[in-house]
Amino acid sequence: MSLKYDKKDIYSSMSQEEIDNVNGYSKSYMNFLDKARTEYLAVEEAVEILENNGFVSLDEKVALEIGDRVYFINKDKSLYVAVIGSEELVNGVNIVGAHIDSPRLDLKPMPLIEKSGAALLKTQYYGGIKKYQWMSIPLALYGVMYNKNGEKIKVAVGENEDDPVFTIADLLPHLAKDQMKGNANEFIDPEKMSVLVGSLKDKEADAKESEKVKANILKILNEKYGVEEIDFARSELSFVPAFKTKFIGFDRGLIGGYGQDDRVCAYATIRAIIDAADELDNVNRTMIAMIVDKEEIGSTGTTSMNSRAFDMFINKLIEKTNSMGVDKLEVYYNSKVLSADVTAGVSPEYEEVSDIQNGSMLGCGISIEKYTGSGGKYNASDANASYMSKVMGIFDRNNIMYQVGTLGKIGKGGGGTIAYILADKGCEVVDCGTPVLAMHSPYEVTSKFDVYMTYLAYKAFYKE
Ligand code: MN
Ligand code: MN
Repeated sequence: MSLKYDKKDIYSSMSQEEIDNVNGYSKSYMNFLDKARTEYLAVEEAVEILENNGFVSLDEKVALEIGDRVYFINKDKSLYVAVIGSEELVNGVNIVGAHIDSPRLDLKPMPLIEKSGAALLKTQYYGGIKKYQWMSIPLALYGVMYNKNGEKIKVAVGENEDDPVFTIADLLPHLAKDQMKGNANEFIDPEKMSVLVGSLKDKEADAKESEKVKANILKILNEKYGVEEIDFARSELSFVPAFKTKFIGFDRGLIGGYGQDDRVCAYATIRAIIDAADELDNVNRTMIAMIVDKEEIGSTGTTSMNSRAFDMFINKLIEKTNSMGVDKLEVYYNSKVLSADVTAGVSPEYEEVSDIQNGSMLGCGISIEKYTGSGGKYNASDANASYMSKVMGIFDRNNIMYQVGTLGKIGKGGGGTIAYILADKGCEVVDCGTPVLAMHSPYEVTSKFDVYMTYLAYKAFYKE
């Protein structure tokens, strides 16, 4: 037997039956990804899946019994889920947490302008993007608005086959001599990332000639949604790529789609807690799944992992399982967590930014990242060796194909996840998720084998 460790590709070692499972899971994931275009919609989709599998709102339960399945929606944009186990909460719970916000173009509070005969919506980008990737591609508009009566209006344009789409019209190369001199950080001015939304005038409008296209858009929005210009200020609307999720390659081994960071792990987290609960005769440790918002901008705000709403959820579990007197800090201290977030796959044409031996190869399994951060592990949550041993042991016993990696070479950049927040609470935690190519681009790429292995890994983790 060789003492050497080698990465193995999943496909070569799978039976046809297992490959059929990969394809089946991939299709339901791709369907989820097409629907869950925003964190609002990801929560809605997840709740629908949970309710179809016997989960009810935590508020409906006065007391919680072993085996109970509950969820708690935090302000429409993050979600905590639990399956109650027989083990006392004070001895810890098994948590898998992913995020459901993805880089995108948000509207500014007062976004609608008219210039040179075109109506445009001004945007402010959300999360870390390479701005040029978002120019001259089809965009869809999703989100919510409130009218002056406080009624919530859902907006989704660009989703259906016969819907219009939107786009940022980039400058033609013929006239881009000055633009092209800037470095990639600068050559797209974010103040110019305004999205084309109209070109026709409302001839009857009581407006200046130069504002009749804007007036027409306001008229259309009023007819369709009953809103006025000021109502943009009480909205959360985002432009996202209008591409459908597809298999990539002649051999259909990869998946291309928007928002895979981190909805690939979010979907796996939800499916895993359901299937783990179904497959176990007795749930031992309480299982918790969470899909949270605002990771991409530093986990700030009421719906982020940093929100104390999660502590409140744990308090409610303590109260409703009649575990009064238990300190939630002790629950955290004895809990184990997978921070379910994607990592960078080794990019074929940019191998030089990866340390190959410590890189994650597409198709070689879910990737465990002992630490994130940058430089001298700055801002990293660095998992304890004893906890690495525990997680690797779970995966080994359950034939999970995994690899261990770091994001990239030291000094080439870096990144973070929600892991440090759970570590701060006292939980044992490590990052563990699907390798992705072209992360944060409008069209991210994963291997369908890693996508499936991510789900199997989380399920195995829940069950132990
Ligand atoms: Mn992420
Ligand atoms: Mn990200």
